[in-house]
Parts: sequence; C-alpha cells; structure tokens
Amino acid sequence: MIENPYFSNDELKCSCCGENKFNDNTLRRLIAVREQVGPMVISSGFRCEAYNTAKGYTQTHATGQAVDVRIAGGDALRVVGMAIRAGFTGVGVSQKGDWAGRFIHLDDLTADQAPRPAMWSY
Ligand SMILES: [Zn+2]
Repeated sequence: MIENPYFSNDELKCSCCGENKFNDNTLRRLIAVREQVGPMVISSGFRCEAYNTAKGYTQTHATGQAVDVRIAGGDALRVVGMAIRAGFTGVGVSQKGDWAGRFIHLDDLTADQAPRPAMWSY
C-alpha cells in the first residue's frame, strides 16, 4: 500500500481477516478525491473472497479496486463528481434511509473486468 496521510491500512484492510490487497492505482484515485472533498470515512475497502461469499456480496471488493465511502447528501454528490474526474468507472449509490448508513461505492474496474463505466443504486 502506498504511503499517504489520509487512509490507513486499518481502514482499507479486510474486516474479517486483515488481508489488504488494496490496489495502488485505485488508492491514488481515492487520494485525489480526498484532496478535493476533505475527510471521508471508509466503510469498506479490500474484502477477501471468503468474506464476500459469506456475506453474499459480489467479488468487486476482492479486486482491491473498490471502496465504500460513508457519506450523504451534498457531500456525496461532490464525491461522485470528483471520483468521475479522478478516473473511477463504477459508482454505486446508497442514499436512502438514515444518513449514518448512506454510502457511495467507487471502483475503477476496466471493461474487461466488468461492464464499465457503470452507475447503479442499491
Ligand atoms: Zn477477509
């Protein structure tokens, strides 16, 4: 993981096993977003395949190229705008219910990995 003042191994590692294969290029994009929009809380970074399977999630986070940012409202819109400019190609929007539970998924998968560019809601 590349050195940076914003995101720690603890934030980006798999919450089940501690493995962290977060992608350096993806992290550079995330840093670019952070430098424009300010502090961001990461709710999920790298997730190993076993954890995704156990939770019924897709394997997108197992690539190390995906992150969920806990953010809502106008701040969420700013994150999406900057993320697109930073080169993120997948944007998932979860903006219903309590603000504390809202998030934006960002990934920079390529078209050979998944249908990209893409935007979806949860
Ligand atoms: Zn794990």
